[in-house]
This record gives sequence, C-alpha cells and structure tokens, in this order.
Amino acid sequence: MNQKPVRVRFAPSPTGHLHVGGARTALFNWLYARNRGGKFILRIEDTDQARSTLESEEMVKHDLKWLGMDWDEGPETGGDFGPYRQSERMDFYKKHAEQLLAEGKAYRCFCTDAELTAKREQAEAENRSPHYDGTCLRLSEAKIQEKLAAGVPFTIRFKVPEKAYTLYDVIRGKVHWEPGTLGDFIILRSDKMPVYNFCVVIDDHLMEISHVVRAEEHLPNTLRQLMLYEAFGWKPPKFAHASLILGQDRSKLSKRHGATSVGQFKEEGYLPEAMVNYLALLGWNEGKDREEYTVPELIKAFSLKRINNSPSVFDLDKLKWLNGIHLRKLTGEQLAEAAEPFLIRAFPFLKSRVENRDVWVLSVLKMIQNKVVLLSEIENWLQFLFHYDLKENEEMRVFFSEEAHLTAGRLLAERILSVKNLTPENFWEAAMSIKEDGFKGKALFHPLRALLSGSLSGPELDAMVPVLLSGTEIPELVSIPERCRSFIEVFGK
Ligand code: GLU
Repeated sequence: MNQKPVRVRFAPSPTGHLHVGGARTALFNWLYARNRGGKFILRIEDTDQARSTLESEEMVKHDLKWLGMDWDEGPETGGDFGPYRQSERMDFYKKHAEQLLAEGKAYRCFCTDAELTAKREQAEAENRSPHYDGTCLRLSEAKIQEKLAAGVPFTIRFKVPEKAYTLYDVIRGKVHWEPGTLGDFIILRSDKMPVYNFCVVIDDHLMEISHVVRAEEHLPNTLRQLMLYEAFGWKPPKFAHASLILGQDRSKLSKRHGATSVGQFKEEGYLPEAMVNYLALLGWNEGKDREEYTVPELIKAFSLKRINNSPSVFDLDKLKWLNGIHLRKLTGEQLAEAAEPFLIRAFPFLKSRVENRDVWVLSVLKMIQNKVVLLSEIENWLQFLFHYDLKENEEMRVFFSEEAHLTAGRLLAERILSVKNLTPENFWEAAMSIKEDGFKGKALFHPLRALLSGSLSGPELDAMVPVLLSGTEIPELVSIPERCRSFIEVFGK
C-alpha cells in the first residue's frame, strides 16, 4: 500500500513556557517523525493576540532545542508549506471561511454577546441544551443585507450537521459522538479573527499533516475538526490523543505539583537526555521491562500504537534516577559542558578554567560524577575544596570528640605535614604509616576522610587525594598541608 509520507507537527500557543505536557506532545511527534523518516513541523498558534508573545515563542523554541528536538519546517526555518505562524496565515482562513459561507455550510450571526448570554441562561433555566438556537440561520437574505449595510458586526458560525461522528483514534480506539453533541459554533469572530478549531483544520490540511498527535484534552475539539474536514471534502489526518499526565495525588499535573516547565527542570540540573528519556516513558513503553534509553534508542523503538490510553503519573523520583544514570554515561567533556553554568555560578573564580576544560576541572568532575544526581548538587559536593573551617563544624566536633578518632586525626595530620613535596605516593605512605600505631580499616579511613574534607560523607578518598594535590596553583583551593595545619590548630594538643 502506498502510504502518505509522515508529516507531524507540534503546534504550541506561545502564551508561556514550554511545560511537561507540551514537551511530551512535541516529543511523541518528533520521535514518530524520526522513526518513520518523516517531517517534524513547528507551527506557532498565535491567533490569541492578547496572550501570544514573541518572547514566549522564543522560549518554547529554546526549550525544544535544549531537549534536542530539531524541526524540519517552522517559522524561521521555512519550508514549502509556510508561513508557519498562524498570525501570518489570515488570508487562508478568510478565504476558507468565505467558501463555507458561499456554500451555505456556515452563516453570519449578528447576535450580540448580551443576547447570546441571555439565550444561554434561559435555556439552562428551562433545562434545554445551551446550544445556539439558530436565530440567524433563519434570517432572510433581505434582512442579512440590511444588517450588513447598517454595519452590524457579525461572527461566522458553522452549521453543525445533524448526524453522528466516529473517530478511530490510534491510541484511544473508537470514539463516538451522538448527533446533537454540539451546537453551531463560531469559526470567525466579529473582529475577523478565526478560532483555533478552524485554523487548525485549514493548516493541518494545507500542510499535509498525516498524523495529529496531541493531548487527550483536545478530543472534544476533534469533533469540531472532523465536521470541518467533512464540510471541505478533505480527508482528515490520523489522530492520536495521548492520555493526561497526573501529579502524585492523581489530579491533573499543574504548578501545585512543583516544577512543570522544561526551563525549571533545566535550572534544577536535569539533563536533556534524561528529560527526553523520562518524557517518552510518560505514556509510552516498548512492551519490554526497560526504562533506560538513549535518544537514538528511543527513535528506533518508538511507535504511536504503544502509547497507553490510561493516564500517567509524573514521578519525580524516577526522573531523578534516570538523570543520575544519564549523568554517569557522559564523557568528561560532555559533563563539563552540562556542568559549566552550575560550576561558574557556584565558583566564579573557576570561570576560565571551566570554559577551557582545564584538566583539573575535568578531574574534579570525574571525582563526583558517580555521586551527583542533579547538576545543581555540584555546588554542595565541591564546597569542601575551597572551604575548610573546622571551628564551626559541628559534625567534626562530634566525630573528633571520640578519643580514637582524635588520636588518629592528630597522627595523620602530623605525618602528612612532615612530608615535603606531597605526591599521591608519599601522601599514602604517610597516611598508611599510622597502621603501625594500631589504626586500620575504618579506624584509619574515617579520620582521614574527616581530616581531608571536613566531612564524613563526600567523594571517594582515592579520587579526592589527587584532586587536592594537583590543584595547588589554584589560590582558592585549600591545600592538604593547610588542612592539616588547621586541624592541629583546632584539635591539636
Ligand atoms: N495550539 C494548541 C495547543 O497549544 C495545539 C493543539 C493541537 O495540537 O491541535 O494546545
């Protein structure tokens, strides 16, 4: 069978940040396009002029790029089906609205807002359907011309056919709507601005979109859209409506549940690879017991048919876990790139070293690569390198209040200080010499860690020692001898 080429679109309304739900919709479309060798199109739905801003469009594009989703056609990118901003496509909408009007499939409605509200309230009071009552459908041609001549403002309403509609949704299966579900709806407002449901049909058709993949909340819109496709005599695209994303309390995911915008996750130190991996699992699975995917693996495995038709719960712990996994997979260079803004913000004096990928910076990152889960934690993990203050350190006071710890600490500090030019070899030789004084295993390593880092947790000693010894030309780094001297000052006899 000759299948239509896959052309899918992400169609954000630029009225704010890119949120988790939108990012997931974009991702499902993008993965599908890439899996099928199709095209991924970015269309900006900015007909709501009061709420749409270019700034928001830029933020959305920025976040999509950060997540690694590139588009083949779009506002600046161009393409054969442009323009890709709805505000620049008004002529198409006007022409098609006039076509429906001329064919008698739509009509001018001169009812004012006040009249419409009154009709609706009355219908509700009488327990009737609140649908538009068709007053203007029954206007005579003479009456219409009279109102037009008098300049009475009007909307254009679509004449809803009295029949049932059925959609075969790729994810949800058969969706059926009985006749009378909808009243005649507006397609062009009195200010000549077309409504979302109208623009989307014209655009999806003219842009030759093959599959509309979007959130379940658009399902009621799909009915309106199916009616419009039918009115124009166009074949609708295939539809795939992905289920809602819920918070842990099983209500629709919202700001109440914490970070929901992609930018916030970036700020908190999540990696784009982990976000993409997690977002893909938010409603999709391969049918295997598998959770870790790289982007190329997702592209290969993805299919619309395996998107669930039940809601998914946003699980921050799982996202964090995946972030740790993806973080550990990075090469030194990749980790430095991802960590750069976090490092510079926390330790501005390291700026040029970080930017130049200095070997010491790379060794520092390697030291904590297996420990850090979020990039924003780097700051805490590395504080000990540049700060060593035992006086105010309650944890150390408690630890060294134990006689054995204190003795080991003093011996270690003295032995290490007695070495002239410290190298990893002679450092360890000095440290290990306290074995002869009866300190072995934990009794040696815990005091050593405490002495070196001023903490009982932190990077592995084996990784920490070379980092402390090799950064001697960095003035902010507290050297090992300085640490030993401070120790003796606070805890010496
Ligand atoms: N502009 C719509 C939104 O942001 C897009 C809906 C659609 O994909 O058709 O929700």
